[in-house]
Amino acid sequence: MSEAASLRYVKGIGPKRAQALAVAGIESVADLVEVYPFRWEDRRAFARVADLAPGRPEATLDLRVVSSRLIRTRKRGFSIFTALLADASGSIKAVWYNQPYLERVLVKDARVVVFGRATLGKSGRDLELVNPDYERLDEDDDTGIHTGRIVPVYRKLGTLGSRSLRSVMFRVLAASTGADLIDPVPAEVRERRGLPPRLAALEAIHFPPGTTAMDDLALRRTPAQRALAFEEIFLVQLALAVRRREVERTRRGAHYEIPDALRVKLARLLPFKLTGAQKRVLKEIGEDLRSPHPMNRLVQGDVGSGKTIVALLTLLVAVENGYQGVLMAPTEILADQHARGILRILREAGSDVKVTVLTGSLKAAARRRALQDVANGYAQLVVGTHALFEAGVAFKRMGLVVVDEQHRFGVMQRMALAAKGTRPDVLVMTATPIPRSLALTLYGDLDLSVIDELPPGRTPVTTLVRREADRARVYDGLKREIAAGHQAYVVVPLVEETAASDLKAATAFAEHLRGAVFPRLAIGLLHGRLKGEEKDRVMHEFSRGAIQILVATTVVEVGVDVPNASVMVVEHAERFGLSQLHQLRGRVGRGGAKSYCVLMVGDGAEGEKARERLATMESTADGFKIAEKDLELRGPGAVFGTQQHGLSDLQFLAAILRDPGLLDTAREDAMRVAGSGGADGVFARLGATWRKRLELPAVG
Ligand code: ADP
Ligand code: MG
Repeated sequence: MSEAASLRYVKGIGPKRAQALAVAGIESVADLVEVYPFRWEDRRAFARVADLAPGRPEATLDLRVVSSRLIRTRKRGFSIFTALLADASGSIKAVWYNQPYLERVLVKDARVVVFGRATLGKSGRDLELVNPDYERLDEDDDTGIHTGRIVPVYRKLGTLGSRSLRSVMFRVLAASTGADLIDPVPAEVRERRGLPPRLAALEAIHFPPGTTAMDDLALRRTPAQRALAFEEIFLVQLALAVRRREVERTRRGAHYEIPDALRVKLARLLPFKLTGAQKRVLKEIGEDLRSPHPMNRLVQGDVGSGKTIVALLTLLVAVENGYQGVLMAPTEILADQHARGILRILREAGSDVKVTVLTGSLKAAARRRALQDVANGYAQLVVGTHALFEAGVAFKRMGLVVVDEQHRFGVMQRMALAAKGTRPDVLVMTATPIPRSLALTLYGDLDLSVIDELPPGRTPVTTLVRREADRARVYDGLKREIAAGHQAYVVVPLVEETAASDLKAATAFAEHLRGAVFPRLAIGLLHGRLKGEEKDRVMHEFSRGAIQILVATTVVEVGVDVPNASVMVVEHAERFGLSQLHQLRGRVGRGGAKSYCVLMVGDGAEGEKARERLATMESTADGFKIAEKDLELRGPGAVFGTQQHGLSDLQFLAAILRDPGLLDTAREDAMRVAGSGGADGVFARLGATWRKRLELPAVG
């Protein structure tokens, strides 16, 4: 099994490192070489000791050990290793903390190449190097791994740091003949597209040639990066092409009819006239429902574009045809709100469709009843959260699933739910405006509908970036809005929704507003740690106007709909991504009143930098433009989250975004290979990492 060549036998790795890698999920040479650097450091420029000065950038120095000393302090385990290092131009002291083994590495007269920044020592006179990266080289050896070149920087992998990984990677690549790497691209495709041999591309990614421009590396546009990006897209597209062919062969479990009588019945439910975009998307969905194959559609629509009613009408088609319709939301607040909104619409139209809510916070008795209703089919429409696809939940006749705010869900979760029906129809809704190229990469197995029109009568939200000095005026503005009968959100950032320290900060802030700033106003607090019923109560009070200012964490980010709220103040706006701010901002501007979104930023340098970024929020309300800007600034992982999709970890997504042509050719090749039955051959060669990413069944 040369392909899965065990790392243990590669010279210079040894059983200990191999074990550490295995623990981190890296079993073979093929797995290892796909652990890509996340950045590179330019260590090409050599300097002489005489050139060093404080404040200069880091430099590489080719030195010799003049003398050295190891001091162990009495505190157990603490050590300082100092060495006097010299070249022809002068000498400098270097200090390493807690690396006592250096005593045996940096012996007198040894040649050592170091990379670091010179700083003034305690005396204030002499320069020194503190913990520089170092490498001992033989006299005639000029191929440093850690110095004198562009070096890769890796994320920590299990217990292995960047430097260890770099050594391992260098040895593995040096020992490789290419035969121990898995080439996922059929030779025919590699030739047709003029791709370099895989080993050469991998070498150029991990240890870029000396002529490489740092900018090109950072922007993922070197020929090697493009070649590997092509590989990744090819594989993803191949998996998608195969899945699509399967879907086309699959006949759905449910059978729907949409006679005119049903249309009329549904139209009577509508509390408003549908927008043109809503009608168009419903028509696309209707066509899916009439086809013999299961629907698999993504509906993209900016915040406030009216996705909920589209979901409801779709669900009711299933219900009217005798199937259970399921609506899954990412948070309990949203699930409850959906349930309430749906019940209101149904009640007003005199419909007797049975709606059941199933969330994690139901009390035991209520949960039992809900489970029973779902299992015996009494529940026609089921609204809930993740709790819907827990093991104990069985449906009588699930026909259709709507997943709201898709970007919060992983694909696996989506599939787990779908597995509870017999090939149910799936409609996924998202407010994340994903550029088309990315949508195809991430959701290539879904058809795409876009609601690109807002309901009439919306007034655009005025967005203002403000700083601490403006706070009093911001509060005055807030008071004025509330005096005029409106309501407000104050959003506080949480690093982690459940971290106790953060909750304390949110609670303290609400207390501060209550006591010192708005003593006469009704202020509520909403965060993810509240019990389900407490959350419910707060949200309900806010939506009926009993709470005037709602201090909230990002639990209000998705979907919450209180049209009377006309102001949102976001504290520490610099801590949020642009797309997230856009989602948040979508909570206001839902009624007829003029609305404001105030982004508070700190005064320091951080705040200054953020102001520039946040200016985008002031200048545009177009979620699509904002997402693109966000992608450019923070990269796809940060924008779409890491949980949402294994594929967003793809190293070269950035390359795809910049280069749609790459996607098109890879797709074309994937379709051809899938069409000629070559996919199984490609998949059979893939290692565990890729199988997981592509959601292929595990082998053996
Ligand atoms: P989102 O797409 O963000 O989920 P919602 O479905 O929550 O948006 O709709 C936002 C608001 O717009 C709701 O108050 C909803 O009742 C209203 N709405 C939706 N469609 C229309 C329409 N065609 N005309 C008027 N109001 C609408
Ligand atoms: Mg919504």
